[in-house]
Amino acid sequence: MDAEIVTIGTELLLGHIIDTNAAWLAQQLAANGLNMYRKTTVGDNEARIAAALSEAIARVDVVITSGGLGPTVDDKTREAVALATGRTLMLNEDLLASIAEIFKRRGFSMSDNNRRQAYIPEGSIPIPNPVGTAPCFAVPVERGGKTCYIICLPGVPRELKHMMEHAIVPLLRERLGLTDTIRSRIIRVAGITESRVDQIVGDLEEQMNPTVGLAAHAGQIDIRITARAASETEAAALIDAVEQQVRARLAPYIFGTDTETLEGVVTTTLAAR
Ligand code: ATP
Ligand code: MG
Repeated sequence: MDAEIVTIGTELLLGHIIDTNAAWLAQQLAANGLNMYRKTTVGDNEARIAAALSEAIARVDVVITSGGLGPTVDDKTREAVALATGRTLMLNEDLLASIAEIFKRRGFSMSDNNRRQAYIPEGSIPIPNPVGTAPCFAVPVERGGKTCYIICLPGVPRELKHMMEHAIVPLLRERLGLTDTIRSRIIRVAGITESRVDQIVGDLEEQMNPTVGLAAHAGQIDIRITARAASETEAAALIDAVEQQVRARLAPYIFGTDTETLEGVVTTTLAAR
């Protein structure tokens, strides 16, 4: 199963905020075995959002959007999804009730534009948002005899994460029958150039599962081993086998794995001595 992410917001295009949602979502999709095809960012423009969505849903099984679900005029995601999928926006009474409930709980009165947030494309699956006022929804789109989904999440990172973990991942696992997971481990090396590392492990970079990729940073190289498997344990076993080969070839240069830093490893080693 393949996926794309469309993040929405003019502030992202202007570089005023960093697209942390796309990075976080990509990690979640991989953890659930979805292949990430592309990430796209568009501004708060209905036609351009709709075009990005139409293109994405023609390529992949799942398109996840972030942002533009708020109550204000520049929140265009609902309209854009309706346009891209040829649906009309319909008031969903349950979502309206859940928005009203949030306002009541917080002691604010609900304004008229909040009603806009309860309008979702006809035929979509409403997904109430218990941590914010922007309800989410999933639009099933038929393509070539199978059902694909456009899933719309709020831009506020705390809300997006909550919705993804509690509602969207379970929905995707059930509806798409997802069983695999994609896991990565990073072997960190220093004191050697990227091109030399490439010569030493180049044959491993041609393999398919796990895949091996290099990323250079100042004075350090990451060797990323990524495996797809039916469980985290199986993925770890696949990664272990390749890690052993990498270690056998590059032992003197390896200082750590995953989140370990050169500074951290050096201080721990000094302290221990
Ligand atoms: P709201 O109901 O809060 O208006 P929304 O779905 O309309 O939600 P946006 O207005 O697009 O979301 O974004 C709300 C806030 O969330 C932004 O001000 C920004 O700080 C943050 N945000 C939006 N998109 C992203 C993103 N891709 N990465 C990180 N933060 C983001
Ligand atoms: Mg908004």
